[in-house]
Amino acid sequence: MTLSLILPIYNEEKNLPSLFERIEKVMSDGRYDYEVIAIDDGSKDSSLQFLKKVAGENLRWKLISFYKNYGQTAALQGGIEHASGDIIIPLDSDLENHPEDIPLLLQKMREGYDLVSGWRLDRWRENPLSRRLPSLIANKIISFVTGISLHDYGCTLKAYKREVIVDLPLYGEMHRFLPAYAARRGAKITEIPVRYSPRASGKSNYGLSRTFRVLLDLLVIHFLDRYLDRPIHFFGGGGLLFIFGSLLSGLYAIYLKAFAGTSLIRTPLPILSAFLFLSGFNFILMGLISELLIRTHTPLSPKNSKIKEKVNF
Ligand code: UDP
Ligand code: MG
Repeated sequence: MTLSLILPIYNEEKNLPSLFERIEKVMSDGRYDYEVIAIDDGSKDSSLQFLKKVAGENLRWKLISFYKNYGQTAALQGGIEHASGDIIIPLDSDLENHPEDIPLLLQKMREGYDLVSGWRLDRWRENPLSRRLPSLIANKIISFVTGISLHDYGCTLKAYKREVIVDLPLYGEMHRFLPAYAARRGAKITEIPVRYSPRASGKSNYGLSRTFRVLLDLLVIHFLDRYLDRPIHFFGGGGLLFIFGSLLSGLYAIYLKAFAGTSLIRTPLPILSAFLFLSGFNFILMGLISELLIRTHTPLSPKNSKIKEKVNF
């Protein structure tokens, strides 16, 4: 069984030396066959220099460096694309995740799971209202929409069997939906508590606004999941509903005119009818345009376009 650890890294110079030591210790104690793929996501500090030095001395440590800062999801995506292990384990590079938990994830995996998700029990204990509550709600919503119950989608530390996460389109904040994608491939999923330490040095790259971006991404993947190959059913469905409403209100207006003598300019019904008709018409047109789009669809950015340099591959 071979492991690929994946480290997204943005300005972590203070944390990397200790991260390197702890990973090496855990991996050599467990005598694993592993590789570490470090993705330098355009760091502005000396992270890249450190990683180059490590990769120069240690063939297991592979380095991908990006042209600029593309964000954590892109970094993880780059790492997953280059991973050769049977099991892929991403973790944060700021020491919030503990490399020492990796053996626990692997042990759980041996019970027959394809994905073992880390769950940071203690997170946000100090900010119950501003961070813990939004995160709780977001996790509940994601669980509800995706139909998979996990407590901590945001925890990077998770162990995946290779086949359930390779070749997935990730963008925005979508790495946290990896379990949802994996489930679609039939993955057996579970979670275990993992340790969590507040970031040792430097500051978080994200704030509360991420919760909203995550929810918007959720809307997108939910939509893509159901309608990617048949957008006309989504838009056309809405369109027909509007046109039906338009007919109803039109007919009602005529009925009032004929039997109650209500003048057509004394009720809003004709306007409502026209409005609904136009909306419905537009919806159907949008559906047709979407059908054209999916037939000419090309990926947003080709594989590897963000990579400036690779070491030890
Ligand atoms: N990260 C990255 N690119 C970015 C922002 C963050 O690769 O643009 C890395 C960062 O170095 C860390 C992980 O992603 O290893 C999580 O980032 P951060 O600690 O800022 O987020 P939080 O822990 O607050 O969710
Ligand atoms: Mg962090």
